[in-house]
Amino acid sequence: MILVVNSGSSSIKYQVLKIETEQTLSSGLIERIGLSEGIISHYKEEELVYKKQKPVEDHSQGIDMVLKLLLHEKYGIIKDYHEIKAVGHRVVHGGEDFTQSVLIDDKVLKVLEETTYLAPLHNPANILGIKAAKQAMPDIPNVAVFDTAFHQSMPEVAYIYALPYKFYEKHGIRKYGFHGTSHQYVANKAAEMLGKSIDKVNLITCHLGNGSSITAIKNGKSIDTSLGYGTMCGVAMGTRAGDIDPAIVVSMMEEMNMSADEVKEILYKKSGLLGISGISSDMRDIEEKDEQGNARARLALDIFADRVRKYVGAYAATLGRIDAIVFTAGIGENGWEIREVICRGFESFGAILDPEKNKVRGKRVEVSKDTSQVKIFVIPTNEEMMIGNETAKVIGIL
Ligand code: ADP
Repeated sequence: MILVVNSGSSSIKYQVLKIETEQTLSSGLIERIGLSEGIISHYKEEELVYKKQKPVEDHSQGIDMVLKLLLHEKYGIIKDYHEIKAVGHRVVHGGEDFTQSVLIDDKVLKVLEETTYLAPLHNPANILGIKAAKQAMPDIPNVAVFDTAFHQSMPEVAYIYALPYKFYEKHGIRKYGFHGTSHQYVANKAAEMLGKSIDKVNLITCHLGNGSSITAIKNGKSIDTSLGYGTMCGVAMGTRAGDIDPAIVVSMMEEMNMSADEVKEILYKKSGLLGISGISSDMRDIEEKDEQGNARARLALDIFADRVRKYVGAYAATLGRIDAIVFTAGIGENGWEIREVICRGFESFGAILDPEKNKVRGKRVEVSKDTSQVKIFVIPTNEEMMIGNETAKVIGIL
């Protein structure tokens, strides 16, 4: 059994996985850590068996609670914590130091701490989770699985920005890419569906959720991706603007007298679907308002689809040959209406959507016409399973 931990600044998500059978035995979520009232939800397989509100002081107390629940006579699934063979941690940023998942020792922890400046919102929380797990289960190995690692195969031509080169050399400013675990997971599943080995497939994977990114995959490896140094660029997202002309940032600061924090707030939290529609950052709300004839909801939908379509087109040119285009994450898996809009024009490079097959939500299926040269797949992502798999590989049990 592998325990997968995804710790955020005020939350811990966890899953216990049986890797051999790809089964989730237990899972849960601790929210509002450090606030007056924490919320603990614990599941046995799919069933919510425990939900309680009580203060959770810090991550260390949070992990102790997770263990207690896992060991609990009624709600638990283990008798001794040694049944957990390793803990796999989602770590957002591995910088250039980590090109694959690693066993965490003091040296790795130190490098992670040094990488914090690249992901100030996420890495500190990930580190807290690692330290808490080490403290609670001192003799169980911990593995870090990075969101950025899959994209470390990008060539220089893709990851260097057209800025003075010393920005890269001195400050590490380059494209890193994110959602790597998800892109890699669906790429592996797509290769299975194509009946080819992963190192022979060319794919464009579209992770479309609250945060979105598109990745070009050549012979199983990421060669370009739409998120970059940070997570504000690429396609328009729930609340993030995606690619904009940098002159706008200058104008916001010089003409509109905004501070760096105010600019960040606008580009990160007040733009994207929310900014355009003025309604919501959630695609379901946008679709609902669009059906009622709301023009700005329609515009938000069309802009979202337009930006995704443009990235797919650009990556089709970068790749030359494509075996499949994959849709995943909340919008990619469920939003069949938006998939239909995105795929308009894909016929030009041989990808023909079947509108009937496409009317599915959350299932692993092919949605292109039988005659389509390039396949279009919907593949639900499972980042936890990917982290579990990676962890099992690192400790040598897979
Ligand atoms: P996160 O990036 O937070 O993990 P998700 O991958 O869960 O997000 O994606 C959240 C997005 O998926 C939201 O915009 C939500 O509206 C959208 N979504 C979920 N279900 C549907 C659906 N049935 N139709 C369209 N969009 C959906």
